[in-house]
Amino acid sequence: MKGLYIHIPFCKHICSYCDFPKKIAYNEEQITNYLNKLIKEINGLNTNLFDTIYIGGGTPNSLNNNNLELLLKTIKNKFNKYKEYTIECNPELINKEQVLLFKKYGINRVSLGVETFNDKGLKLLNRHHSEKDVINSVKLLKENDINNINIDLIYGYFNETIEDLKYDLEMIHKLNIMHVSCYTLILEKNTLLYKLHQEKELNEDLIADMMDYTYKYLAKIGFNHYEISNFSKVGYESLHNLKYWNKEDYIGLGMGATSCINNKRITNSYFINNYLKDIDKSVEILDLIDLKKEFIIMGLRKIKGILKEDYYNKFNSKINDDFNYKKLIDLKLLEEDDKSLKLTYRGLFLANIVFEEFI
Ligand code: SF4
Repeated sequence: MKGLYIHIPFCKHICSYCDFPKKIAYNEEQITNYLNKLIKEINGLNTNLFDTIYIGGGTPNSLNNNNLELLLKTIKNKFNKYKEYTIECNPELINKEQVLLFKKYGINRVSLGVETFNDKGLKLLNRHHSEKDVINSVKLLKENDINNINIDLIYGYFNETIEDLKYDLEMIHKLNIMHVSCYTLILEKNTLLYKLHQEKELNEDLIADMMDYTYKYLAKIGFNHYEISNFSKVGYESLHNLKYWNKEDYIGLGMGATSCINNKRITNSYFINNYLKDIDKSVEILDLIDLKKEFIIMGLRKIKGILKEDYYNKFNSKINDDFNYKKLIDLKLLEEDDKSLKLTYRGLFLANIVFEEFI
């Protein structure tokens, strides 16, 4: 079964670190045209192919309730056999009517873009919510029986102390959240944060301490670390995102969205007008060696690593015949046994070095 990703690029404001395909939501006509195109594409899909649906952004819950209902109704009419159906939300925009729509149309997982609970951090990242907004959002979702909640956190932003991070993680515990995605800040070019702070260096030692603290603290409070940046309570792993890490097929609809089917990767235009006209797509055909490398790089993101049997079943060859990774084992970045190949604890901190060896 495949995953279906639907991209809603509209945002009420632009966060300082953001490099995602997005658009300030000011033009109602454009939003209507965008939704009409999405709806046409959704209606053209084969219902039986998908068991996970993910509405991401941008900010999907920046849509007004009429537009949101139109989109959710289209999806509901089309799909009813999914296991997981997620929507990404900004906490300051969640309201009761929205949550009732989520419930009515079968959404069973909500991912909140929190990033931090710390005012200083929120200001730097240009996020417009407060700690209170997050608490109220979680309460509202739980009151309406949506308990499968993810919170995204960012750590390592300038001026963040380990005490700030500890507070964020304690809030996750206090709110009894089922899933956390923790990413280190990446200074992407073309972002406001890069323009303002490009001369500053991220403190890599502090970031490593933060990662170590995060891994240990979340384990202590019952989270299973199942992917480099993702942690869940038992049974709450993201089924949709696991498809990416397992290199399964998925379809992406919307501006800048990517579809990956067999060895073909198609990415829609990052420009809304080109997306609406169905032009400016990039199509990439992956050869066997590309497919093998991607399978390894994505697979190693999982804490349990790659099952050698899965590799063999997919490519009809053995991973240790195809790649020489002895150096990474000697450096104690990778470890293997008869069944699997995975990152060591040390390797989690230096994963990019490992991945580069497979590129
Ligand atoms: S981080 Fe999310 S909410 Fe912020 S601008 Fe980017 S897409 Fe929009």
